[in-house]
Amino acid sequence: MIVRESFESTMKRKSVIPELARNRPLALFTESIMSLLTSHNTYGAFADLVSLMGQTFPLAAPALYVNTQGLDLRAYSVLDAGDGGDYDAARILGSRRYAYTRVLAGGQAPYSPARVDIKLMTSPYAQVNLSINPGVHEEIFVEWAKYLTPTIAKLMDNELLMNMAFRDGLTGLLNYRAFSEILMAEWERARRYRTTFSLMMIDIDHFKRINDEYGHPAGDQVISSIASRLQGRLRKSDLVFRYGGEEFMALLPQTGVYKANMLAERIRSNVEKMQFPGDISVTISAGVCQYQDGLTSSDLVKQVDMGLYLAKGKGRNRVEIYKDISL
Ligand code: GH3
Ligand code: MG
Ligand code: MG
Repeated sequence: MIVRESFESTMKRKSVIPELARNRPLALFTESIMSLLTSHNTYGAFADLVSLMGQTFPLAAPALYVNTQGLDLRAYSVLDAGDGGDYDAARILGSRRYAYTRVLAGGQAPYSPARVDIKLMTSPYAQVNLSINPGVHEEIFVEWAKYLTPTIAKLMDNELLMNMAFRDGLTGLLNYRAFSEILMAEWERARRYRTTFSLMMIDIDHFKRINDEYGHPAGDQVISSIASRLQGRLRKSDLVFRYGGEEFMALLPQTGVYKANMLAERIRSNVEKMQFPGDISVTISAGVCQYQDGLTSSDLVKQVDMGLYLAKGKGRNRVEIYKDISL
């Protein structure tokens, strides 16, 4: 890293050569903009940006909040959700449900209730805000924001256009295309930062019968009710996708396979008890798997699909873990 917290405080006292003081932040700003410009989507890009900020200024404990007209609310924070992170996110994003991404940045300062907010972008369609602990780093962050704003505005504009292509019309969930993009970003992050994540694939059992017996519109109703139940049952940091017709996928960051299995089991038993309009009830089957070193993103999709296949084969209305014992 180029600028360090300690360096920044010495700079503040003007005890270093002015030339050096100007150049170091500039290099940092350039590095962050280059990284934003080379990212495929803002999901990974914002996590990387917050990580860079957090590594460089640990005492700032940075968090970045995205709000696109209340449709897509996201938090990227070095703070632990339970340790002030959620509180700060709700302060900016409100009480609506948002996706919370805990960003790893090495060391981290405790949450300070007197947070400083810096606008990174604001338009009728999207707001991106940065929140930091107060401190000597403040000035650099304000300057940094000026450099970041044009790039972030451009990325967000692109993403808003893409959003139409990334969301499913019936359920409002992210679609298959979004899954492919986000899986790649999450896989890359897990590999780089040596973390993990799990996948959960869910398929409604004998859904053909529902359509045949009650009609297609009733089937649609079941699909969208299950979609909202899935979102409600999973955590803020988890992402839910409509993977196919009556198939869903969930991506659970920083979650091991046993936890994922437990969550899937809870969802399965919850869906079993649901009553849909017209006295319809359904069951679901699920597969889960976990990212491990050496697995490609398509290996993971194969594994989670294998888990689901096992669950169907063992009689449905159950959850199966697929584990490659050779790993
Ligand atoms: P299994 O337990 O093996 O999953 O049986 P299934 O009948 O659910 O599986 P299959 O893949 O044979 O059938 C899925 C059905 O889901 C077929 C299709 O008509 C229905 N389907 C897919 N997308 C939609 C949709 O958007 N709306 C409705 N109503 N039905 C859909
Ligand atoms: Mg299916
Ligand atoms: Mg099915």
